Amino acid sequence: MKIGIIGSGFAGLSSALFLSRNKLNAITLYDKFDKVQTVGAGILIQPSAMEIFKKLDLYEEFIRNGEKVYDLEGTNHRGQKVFLTSYNDYAPECFGIGIHRSLLFQSLYNKCKMQSNIKFELNHEIIFLEDNRSAYDLLIVANGSHSNLRDQVPIKQSYKLYPYGCLWTTIEDDRIAPNQLRQYLKYSQEMFGILPSGINDNLKRIVSVFWSLPIRLKNTYSIENILESMKFYLNEENNDFFEKLKQANYSFAVYADVYMQQYHHENIVFIGDAAHGMSPQLGQGVNMAFIDSYFLDKALINNNDNIKLALNNYTKLRKKHLRFYSQASKFLTPLYQSDQEFYGRFRDLLFTISKQMKFSRKISSQILCGKRTSWITNKEIQY
Ligand SMILES: Cc1cc2nc3c(=O)[nH]c(=O)nc-3n(C[C@H](O)[C@H](O)[C@H](O)COP(=O)(O)OP(=O)(O)OC[C@H]3O[C@@H](n4cnc5c(N)ncnc54)[C@H](O)[C@@H]3O)c2cc1C
Repeated sequence: MKIGIIGSGFAGLSSALFLSRNKLNAITLYDKFDKVQTVGAGILIQPSAMEIFKKLDLYEEFIRNGEKVYDLEGTNHRGQKVFLTSYNDYAPECFGIGIHRSLLFQSLYNKCKMQSNIKFELNHEIIFLEDNRSAYDLLIVANGSHSNLRDQVPIKQSYKLYPYGCLWTTIEDDRIAPNQLRQYLKYSQEMFGILPSGINDNLKRIVSVFWSLPIRLKNTYSIENILESMKFYLNEENNDFFEKLKQANYSFAVYADVYMQQYHHENIVFIGDAAHGMSPQLGQGVNMAFIDSYFLDKALINNNDNIKLALNNYTKLRKKHLRFYSQASKFLTPLYQSDQEFYGRFRDLLFTISKQMKFSRKISSQILCGKRTSWITNKEIQY
């Protein structure tokens, strides 16, 4: 089959790698940039995606480059522990991995470059789907949540930017937040996150730092005020770390909620953030991109490369899992990032009650692991 993939992000590269296993496939990957790269901070990878890494032979390298995360701890501005979501509540020995996105990306890209049936067309922005659709048996759109191509197909859809984004940076540090994602919160108006992110190119341990910020303030915020607030949350023993925060350069990231009623039209299929962008509150975006690419390959194999049947099958296979996580991230995001103090108070009350109960701790950890598919039943994603 001739396969075109638009976008060389996590979704595009991982689907190229799966599809390249069939040596009859000839794959062309497009990206608008002249260099295949990813910018951004660390990401948290969930057990649901680790299964896919094993299938792609990426797991060992990934574990070497990342740091195991055993739990997520939230502390409020009064020093009270609001939540502690532990992977251990899901299963013993269960963990997430914090990793710098560029190292994961590089492993994936290097593997793609080794495949003789994958070709890269860089510095090549696709503007019109119609121009490319007929050139390929299958056209995969994986160009991220702000896709300029989505509205060129007659599928019911929506795209909405969240009102809050975040400032982020990465910092070399040996000590802070070992094996734990830490969040400091003041209702839903302040959120300060520290995520262990494995090692950098110099083999030094790094953490990623996030500070929640409304988009309306992105050009007018005062970094001095933000640093003062960060200092408030860090104990004196973390003075060294605070000094590093003062020296760091910060970038601003935004995210959008993307909905598509179905993910395919004729021989075109949308995967990754292009199909279902969500807020990073649950740490699922990259995970979903990998899972999508696995199921797309599986649907093609199960349907003997009959595109019509395979893409119908793909939408069916992915819909429940993706709907659940899109809804969950839509529900949770204002509890962490909103102008309304009420949401933060509600979150603190809800989480304080639910952390006392074993069954709700189990559900929270299952959601975190990226496995749940429904609000009502306990059914998990099956590979
Ligand atoms: C602050 C922040 C923190 C996050 N933390 C996590 C986390 O902890 N865990 C997690 O799983 N996820 C996290 N995410 C989400 C994650 O980054 C995304 O879900 C993931 O990058 C989506 O991958 P993708 O391949 O679908 O899209 P992208 O990574 O956006 O890649 C799209 C590619 O398409 C290219 N492109 C765009 N338009 C065109 C065009 N017209 N023609 C050709 N090429 C084009 C772009 O150059 C890019 O290379 C976070 C996101 C943010 C913003």
